[in-house]
Amino acid sequence: MSRQIIVGNWKMNGTTRDSKALVQAISGGVKAEGPDVVICPPFTQLSLAASQLEGTSVRLGAQDCHKAASGAYTGDISPAMLTDLGVSHVILGHSERRQGHGELDETVREKAVAAAKAGLTPVVCIGETEDQRESGDHFDVLGWQIKGSLPDDFSGILAYEPIWAIGTGRAATTEEIAETMVFLRQELVRQFAENGKKVRILYGGSVNNENAASILSIPEVAGALVGGASLKPDAFLSIIHAAS
Ligand code: PGA
Repeated sequence: MSRQIIVGNWKMNGTTRDSKALVQAISGGVKAEGPDVVICPPFTQLSLAASQLEGTSVRLGAQDCHKAASGAYTGDISPAMLTDLGVSHVILGHSERRQGHGELDETVREKAVAAAKAGLTPVVCIGETEDQRESGDHFDVLGWQIKGSLPDDFSGILAYEPIWAIGTGRAATTEEIAETMVFLRQELVRQFAENGKKVRILYGGSVNNENAASILSIPEVAGALVGGASLKPDAFLSIIHAAS
């Protein structure tokens, strides 16, 4: 079995001082035999984090990228700019970008294509709202998001993040995650055949040091996408140590 992957999504947090200390604490606490660890600081801290992480096993991710390689896109960052800094992963289609920046499935898919072309591993996020889960539409929604957001030859990482579980302290239950993982795998295989078997699926949404071990032991869960707890070195390291 391959190693699990723990991805830390710092979101819009991290001044130089905070970021330096956090990167140092995390890279100092990671054990070589543990899971793959990826931290995703804001763009402004990537360069410094890259130099701090040199020679360590911790990988660097970004939280978004543009679909174009370069050009007249004020305020945007291209995949090539990220690889140039030593970034290996990029989170795409996070619900905060879908909701706050109007990102549609199609945009996410185009970004995933561009990211992979540049050599980045895309971590594409999908997830249903609370209303969609309550009305029982969540599997339809997730199926459409897979169809719309993932390129046919997708070989990156899929992160299942129920929107109602993000930043709320209310992670999905192990039963909900287990059932959704089975659905996601079936759907990936139905839509992408052999390719769909290879996609690794993470869970994200209020993962913390207390629930990490049980979430990470659910079949098909290849790791976790961690927001709030990734800003606390002790909590993030215990999540990493709970993974295999
Ligand atoms: P959370 O965020 O762990 O703070 O719920 C997860 C995410 O948004 O990726």
